[in-house]
Amino acid sequence: LLSRGRVRAHTLSESGMSDTPKTNLLGLTRTDMESFFADLGAKAFHGRNVLKWIHKHGVVDFDAMTDVPQKLRDLLKQRAEIGIPKISLTQPAGDGTTKWVLELEDGQHIETVYIPEENRSTICVSSQVGCALDCSFCSTAQQGFNRNLTAAEIIAQVWLATRELGRPPTNVVLMGMGEPLANFDNVVPAMELMQEDLAYMISKLRVTISTSGIVPALNRLAEVADVSLAVSLHAPDNALRDELVPINRKYPLEQLIPACKAYVAGDRRRKITWEYVMLDGVNDSIAHAKALIRLLEGVPSKVNLIPFNVFPGTAYKTSPAERVEVFRQRLKRAGIMAMTRKTRGDDIDAACGQLVGKVRDRSRRHLKRIPVVQEMRP
Ligand code: SAH
Repeated sequence: LLSRGRVRAHTLSESGMSDTPKTNLLGLTRTDMESFFADLGAKAFHGRNVLKWIHKHGVVDFDAMTDVPQKLRDLLKQRAEIGIPKISLTQPAGDGTTKWVLELEDGQHIETVYIPEENRSTICVSSQVGCALDCSFCSTAQQGFNRNLTAAEIIAQVWLATRELGRPPTNVVLMGMGEPLANFDNVVPAMELMQEDLAYMISKLRVTISTSGIVPALNRLAEVADVSLAVSLHAPDNALRDELVPINRKYPLEQLIPACKAYVAGDRRRKITWEYVMLDGVNDSIAHAKALIRLLEGVPSKVNLIPFNVFPGTAYKTSPAERVEVFRQRLKRAGIMAMTRKTRGDDIDAACGQLVGKVRDRSRRHLKRIPVVQEMRP
């Protein structure tokens, strides 16, 4: 397989005459593809055909694209490429979950997880190499941040999964490594390709973006996309959320909650999925459940309680299952749909918050201290 991304430096084209970098077609949406072909002096429908070859049929060799005229194929070979990252490790878990470690063109690694269920197949996709947000209970945070993924590298994860599984996944969640809304310009076209009829045809209701709550980006997202929204809440008040999800200091709950409400406004099918990691003695008391009920009053909500997945070096502990259940029942009694997320793939470190890849350069971020478990709050 090729292993070139759109980010690579100038390369000689195959003619050896030009140093124009080749465009990686993998990350181009239908409109991008049409304008790329227009720039080549070709008809737009050839661009749509190439898009279909790549994503629907998994074909990355221009010569195998039989309905593309030979002259155009030769031009494409000079000006374009289809760079797919290499799967450097396939790790199956005991429960059917599979983790793929992908090696990117610059040697960085990211992780993609496949989660089969009875009636659906979900791919959990990464959006960045590492993460800059520093959530105290997440192991990706401990790896620091290196860079954003390109649109090609994001959709490549769906491309590879489709080839590995023999069909497109039914669901995609942007819940892997990274904060998707901190990589807005690459995540949005990648999500468009997931939904594209000429590509994976995944319904907008089955593409979910998960965010720690970057409010201005969330407002922008509402204008350009219509995918499902999951928000990493984890605490019902600012004081506790400031500690667990530090971006809360910049965009506190009184900004986040109205922005989420606005995102789903006007569509009665939509609910916000609130992710709430259950940390023993930190955020899992009845008092926290009551505060959460008050916070979500009037917001179309579904709460996903996530048992904390431990990783080396963390001081947090998983809440006992009984306490999670008491918390859940409390929410249910208040009329809030609440489920406990089944932990999947934890034996291969593929569960939420366990994805680490290998971040090569951590120098852009301070080294992480081990979190101190906070006293329970009333
Ligand atoms: N940055 C995005 C998406 C990545 S994480 C976000 O914050 O939403 C997907 C979910 O896993 C988030 O809700 C995250 O808070 C949660 N998570 C992180 N570390 C975890 C851990 N150790 N155990 C359980 N869930 C965790």
